[in-house]
Amino acid sequence: MNLETAIAKLNELEATQHAYHHAMGVLTLDGATAAPKRAALGRGKTLGVLSGITYQMMVNDETREVLQTILDSRDQVDAKIARRAELLKEDLDDMTRIPMDEYVAYQTLVSDADAVWHDAKEKSDYPMFAPYLEKIIDFNRRFASYKDDKKPAYDVLLNDYEKGVSMATLDPFFALLREKLTPVILDVSKKPAPRTDFLHQFFPVHLQRTFSDKVMAMMGMDRDCCNIAETEHPFTDGFNKWDIRITTNYKENDLASSLFSVIHEGGHALYELGTADDIQFTCLASGATMGIHESQSRFYENLIGRSLPFCRALLPVMQEIFPQQMDGVTADMLYAAVNEAHPSLIRIEADELTYAHHIMIRYELEKLMIAGEVKVGELPALWNKMYKDYLGVDVPNDRQGILQDTHWSGGMIGYFPSYALGSAYGVQMLSAMEKDVDVWAAAEKGDLTPITAWLGEKIHRHGKLLKPAQLLENAMGAAFDPNYYVNYLVKKFSDLYKL
Ligand SMILES: [Zn+2]
Repeated sequence: MNLETAIAKLNELEATQHAYHHAMGVLTLDGATAAPKRAALGRGKTLGVLSGITYQMMVNDETREVLQTILDSRDQVDAKIARRAELLKEDLDDMTRIPMDEYVAYQTLVSDADAVWHDAKEKSDYPMFAPYLEKIIDFNRRFASYKDDKKPAYDVLLNDYEKGVSMATLDPFFALLREKLTPVILDVSKKPAPRTDFLHQFFPVHLQRTFSDKVMAMMGMDRDCCNIAETEHPFTDGFNKWDIRITTNYKENDLASSLFSVIHEGGHALYELGTADDIQFTCLASGATMGIHESQSRFYENLIGRSLPFCRALLPVMQEIFPQQMDGVTADMLYAAVNEAHPSLIRIEADELTYAHHIMIRYELEKLMIAGEVKVGELPALWNKMYKDYLGVDVPNDRQGILQDTHWSGGMIGYFPSYALGSAYGVQMLSAMEKDVDVWAAAEKGDLTPITAWLGEKIHRHGKLLKPAQLLENAMGAAFDPNYYVNYLVKKFSDLYKL
C-alpha cells in the first residue's frame, strides 16, 4: 500500500468510526436523560450491534497495514496524521491482544454488574455485588497480562487512564499528601464550622436553572455549542466541539450542589469546546488523559469557583435570583461556606482538603485487589478500617462505604488516581498562569474568558496531539511537582480556619 492510499483510508476509517461513535453516544445520552426505563433492552441490542461493527472495522489486516504504512513514513507526513496513526495503532494492539470471546464476555459482565451494583447499593447488600467484583478483578488482571506481562498488572491498568503513571510515581505522591494534609484535616475538624445554613433553604428548581445559565455565561461557554440537561449524576458528553452536553442535578434544599456541578462539568466542556477545528472528527479531538481532563474541571470548580474573588462575583448574581434567601450574606460568608471542610464518608461530596484521602483509600485497595493480596469478601472490612485510619470516620453501612462509587462495577480499576492527579496538575498550572494573566481580577469580574484563553492555548486546542507529559510540562512550566498542590491546600485551609 502506498502512503497516499494509506492516508486516504485513514481518513475514511476515522470518518466512519466517528459517525458510529456519534450515533452510539447520542443513544447513550438519550438513555441517561430522556428515554423511559425499559428502553434499555433495545438500546443494549443496538449498541451491541454497532460496537461489533466498529470493532471489526478496527481489528483487521487492512487497518493494520494502513497504520503501519503511515508510521513507517512518519517523517514524511503531517504531525497530526502521524499522531492519529500512532494512537489508533496503540488501540488496535490493545484490542488485538484480548481474545474476542473474552472481550465480549467482559462487556456482558460489566453491563450485568452495573445493574446489580445499583440494586446492591440501594439495599446496602455487598455480598450481592461481590461475585461480580471478583470476576471483574480477574478479567482486569488477565487483560493487563495480555497487554504487558512484564509490568505489574496494576501499572498496566493505571496506564489505561493516565499514560506514564505507575505505582512508583503514585506511592510517593499519595504518601506526601497523607503526611502533609492529615494534620491540617485534624486541626480543621477541631475548629468551629462556618455557617452554611443560608445555602440550605428552599431554592426552586426553575430559578436554579436560571442560575446555571448565568454561571455558564460567566464561564464564557458558547451556548450554541453546549447545553445542559438534568441527570442523577452529573457528567459531560461531547460529540465534537460544536456539540457538547453537560448535566447537573438540582437539589431544592442545597444551592451549592448544582452550582459546583455546573462549574465542574463546565470545565470539562470548555476543554472539549476549545479543541482545534482541524482535529475534529478524528481521534485527536478530545482530552489528552483522564487526569488532564479532571485538571480542567477541578480547576474551574475549586481553584476558581471556590476562590474568594469568584465568590465576590457570584454573590450579586445569587442575590438577584434569590433575594430573600441570600439577604445579608457577604462574600466572605459565602467563601467560608463553600469551603467547609470536614472528614466525611462520600467521595463525590468531599471538600477540597479531604478529597485526596478518599482517593488514596481506593488506590491502596485497588493495589491489593489486583495483586491478589486481599479476598473480595474482606474488602468491606478493610474499606471501613481505612476510613477510620485515614479520615477518622466510622462507616455505618456498605451503601455509604464500599458500594458508593460506580467505577468498579463499570470495570474501571485504576481510574481513581486520575482525580487526585488532576487536582494537583491544576494547581501547578494556576501558578504558571498567574505569571501571564491577572487571574484574580478576571475571577472577581465574573468573566473567566482570559483564564480559558490561557488554558485553551496551553491545553485545550491540542486535544491528544501532544504526549501527555509534554502537554503538562508546557502548561505547568516545569516537571510535575505535587508540592504545589500540598502547599496550596495547607495555605488555603490554614487561612480559612485560622490555624
Ligand atoms: Zn470530572
